[in-house]
Amino acid sequence: MAQHLGWWDKFSEKASIDAIDRYRKKSIFYFVSFSGAAVILYFSAKSYQSYDISLAFTLLFGAVFILLNAVTAIIFNREEIHYYASVFCVFFMLLTVVYMGGYKNTALYWLYPIPLIYFVLLGIKIGAIVNVLFFIILLVLLKSPLDIPAQYPPAEVSRFITSFAVMNLISFIADYFRHDSHSKLTKLSYAKLKQSYTDSLTKLPNRRFLSSVLFERFMVSDEYYPLTIVNIDIDHFKDVNDTFGHQIGDQVLMKFTELCINNIRKNDVMVRTGGEEFLLFFMQTSKAQGATLAEKLRKIIEQSSLVLENQIIEFTASFGVAECQSNDDLELALHIADKRMYAAKQSGRNKVVCDD
Ligand code: GH3
Ligand code: MG
Ligand code: MG
Repeated sequence: MAQHLGWWDKFSEKASIDAIDRYRKKSIFYFVSFSGAAVILYFSAKSYQSYDISLAFTLLFGAVFILLNAVTAIIFNREEIHYYASVFCVFFMLLTVVYMGGYKNTALYWLYPIPLIYFVLLGIKIGAIVNVLFFIILLVLLKSPLDIPAQYPPAEVSRFITSFAVMNLISFIADYFRHDSHSKLTKLSYAKLKQSYTDSLTKLPNRRFLSSVLFERFMVSDEYYPLTIVNIDIDHFKDVNDTFGHQIGDQVLMKFTELCINNIRKNDVMVRTGGEEFLLFFMQTSKAQGATLAEKLRKIIEQSSLVLENQIIEFTASFGVAECQSNDDLELALHIADKRMYAAKQSGRNKVVCDD
């Protein structure tokens, strides 16, 4: 029976839950890019005024790169690669500035936001690798006997290294727990969403799924057409309940679902729309093909039975078939399938009706 649960993976709204997190990253990326570029440009101008031309050009190059990178990210709407480009640029620009000393030897102060930004943009794992690498290169620059142009007071360097290490650690912990709670919340909302779209008895998608997800898909994509809709209603189901009890009635519903699911294709979707009423959606299927499939199902159901300890329960169903092309009115096609199912009932039940 588990095979019919594929509907959830195919049509679920996981993408929209993930989009919420992508939006967070994107917003931070644009904010940091534009505000960061503005600050860097300011210091580039200041450095130029104080005749530190190499620093002025390093900063100018960095700011222009960050700006262009953010603008192309907007134009091409592809963030991930631009996050890396930005991180790469900032990585080398800041190391160069630390090497040179920065404006009035204040380069080190501007490194504090880096760990957090890297974690946000690169995620916990790659962020950790890049931050550690950045930290190691900084240590080499500041602590090795290398003779660099920058002149930082030794006491300041030691304090900076300690506080920067703490900053890295705090950023790691903050992002680790944010990531952890985000995954848990995603799982939870995903499970709740699935629950709200699933019929608890048959595990089929329910009417809410039909109206909130499936119809939307049918409206926006042509890939499902021609679509054949089959409306099914179990015959005299009330009598089953009255004769054998509600619990046995439930078992009949589950047996009926199993029979249908095991005999339709993976791409088709079966929805429980009400008590003993179902809709089948045969994707990319003409009415003639759909009618053949419905007739096959009708026979299978007619010939099957629910075998209990001391009784055998047989049941049948009535089918109404309608076709829907991509430019047809879906509601109308559903109405036609419903009308034909009632025609099947009126003409004696246990029938497939495909025409008016
Ligand atoms: P018809 O052939 O005209 O469709 O007759 P019917 O008895 O199947 O139709 P009717 O609409 O009169 O009865 C449907 C019955 O389905 C009534 C209701 O109690 C029963 N039913 C609805 N939902 C469930 C359910 O979840 N479990 C059980 N056991 N019965 C249900
Ligand atoms: Mg009914
Ligand atoms: Mg019925």
